[in-house]
Amino acid sequence: MPWIDKNDCTGCGICIEECPVDCIAMEENVAEIDMKGCIRCALCHDICPVDAVKHDSEKEEYWIEENVNWAKYSIDASAKYYGREEERLNCLNRMIGHFKREKRIAEATVERLLKIKEEIE
Ligand code: SF4
Ligand code: SF4
Repeated sequence: MPWIDKNDCTGCGICIEECPVDCIAMEENVAEIDMKGCIRCALCHDICPVDAVKHDSEKEEYWIEENVNWAKYSIDASAKYYGREEERLNCLNRMIGHFKREKRIAEATVERLLKIKEEIE
């Protein structure tokens, strides 16, 4: 999936004009992609004059850090809410379960998509 680096975007609007499904809008002078509407055509990535549109692979470390920070926040908040230190471990196990489930869903989705690919080829 493409994403726009707000630090690089100059707000020229070219990607907004060219996106075939109109899923890019200007937010506070920088372009932002509506991920639910994006069809992953990569056109915006190819036409941006300042290379502000990045690929997913360029954000993996950021997302991992974001997930870990979310887990840490939840662990602290759970212990505080319940008033029991043992809730830290309970919450941590729930977070691990959550991400394992996400992994299973992603792997099963890839399997299904590979079958669709076989049908297309
Ligand atoms: S083409 Fe690039 S610089 Fe121009 S608005 Fe889109 S992302 Fe920003
Ligand atoms: S990848 Fe295609 S559909 Fe998605 S935002 Fe860019 S131009 Fe629009």
